[in-house]
Amino acid sequence: AALTMTAAGCGGGRAGTASSEAPAAGANKGALIGVAMPTKTSERWIDDGNNVKSKLEALGYKVDLQYANDSVPQQQQQIESMLNNGAKALIVASIDGTALTTQLADAGKDGVKVIAYDRLINGTPDVDYYVTFDNQKVGVQQGTSLLTGLGILDADGKDTGKAGPFNVELFAGSPDDNNAQFFFNGAMSVLQPYIDKGTLKVVSGQTDFSQVAIQQWKLETAQARMETILNGFYAKGDTKLDGVLSPYDGLSRGILNATKAAGIPNPIVTGQDAEKASDKLIQDGVQYSTIFKDTSKLAETASTMVDAILTGKTPETNDTTTYNNKVKVVPAYLHQSVIITKDNLQKEIIDSGYYTQAEIDKGE
Ligand code: BGC
Repeated sequence: AALTMTAAGCGGGRAGTASSEAPAAGANKGALIGVAMPTKTSERWIDDGNNVKSKLEALGYKVDLQYANDSVPQQQQQIESMLNNGAKALIVASIDGTALTTQLADAGKDGVKVIAYDRLINGTPDVDYYVTFDNQKVGVQQGTSLLTGLGILDADGKDTGKAGPFNVELFAGSPDDNNAQFFFNGAMSVLQPYIDKGTLKVVSGQTDFSQVAIQQWKLETAQARMETILNGFYAKGDTKLDGVLSPYDGLSRGILNATKAAGIPNPIVTGQDAEKASDKLIQDGVQYSTIFKDTSKLAETASTMVDAILTGKTPETNDTTTYNNKVKVVPAYLHQSVIITKDNLQKEIIDSGYYTQAEIDKGE
């Protein structure tokens, strides 16, 4: 009931969930839906956009799908134009989760429902639902796989008693993306106890989110930071780098470019998104792990939510406590993610039909 009140109560004249406000059956079929995606530089967002578009079209909607080149003003402008073109609902994967307040206020005034896609939109009442993965758990999985790769935990997650010390470095995602902090906090919840007891040693001493975050999740920036750290703290080969916490495959490849250029053995490197190029590196024993998030499920949920909202139903959610955007707790639907290593890549990625071996071999 609280959920229904939140959805209906914050929208003024919007189509709510109460039956008196519900749109007539079929009234919104054929309506325009705006889909705002952040960038095409990472393949997951290309898949997300295509999947959302085709699922919405299959449900009978028209779709305006836009990518914003990681530019905040461009995304703001794209959302404005979706609203001007009469969009009845928006699905938004934001670049800066705090930069859309003005645009979404316009959406709210017009009764346009807003679904935050994968990344929470902060500081606005005008976001109705959130579809994502369990982001804290993704971080826990990243931290756990670093420990497993180093042999500190066994395959069942049991402590093997290895004392180390293992030399590691930490990376986090873009500070303007709400997810980045969730991933990092999740990972640190399992790594910090091992740092405290000296099993893990962060040789650079850089352990604060602000020191390790990589603006806009850029591969090149991660590569440059890894190079600087290797030159500053691991020069002359007297200190061996054993592992690197990386929150995203693009950063992982930048990190591995740097270690390769330095001519040192591959450290254990984690990742996220099971990107094709990283799947290949995992099969080849170069990158240790990634986190697989089946984005077609996310697209399915977002599209089904839009259809539910526009046909006067209450969308299904499974988390109504976690995602406080500083104005409200946004009701969310969370999907689950899977740790991938060389051992289960075949089963989870290829046998499941997510990618073919040929696609992985092609890389990008
Ligand atoms: C997504 C990750 C992705 C990252 C970089 C995050 O918001 O949740 O799946 O790796 O952005 O694109």
